[in-house]
Amino acid sequence: MGLSEILIILLIAVLAIVIPTVVLSVTRLVMRGIRLRQEQMIEEHRRVPCPFCKERIHPDALVCPYCKRDLPQIIDGA
Ligand SMILES: [Zn+2]
Repeated sequence: MGLSEILIILLIAVLAIVIPTVVLSVTRLVMRGIRLRQEQMIEEHRRVPCPFCKERIHPDALVCPYCKRDLPQIIDGA
């Protein structure tokens, strides 16, 4: 077995480790991005309009982050 054959086998071995690692990392990043996006959408969907400025705010907010007005606690039974 020549040196070039050993190098080719080594290269294949390195690639066999590197490629799945990279693919896995990218997949994980993409999945995390999708999950974060879904969480943002769910969070956005849960928001209620501020009674004063109509910006969508967290349902439990005590002060509107947009118009800075104190908010009455909306009891919606949820
Ligand atoms: Zn407001």
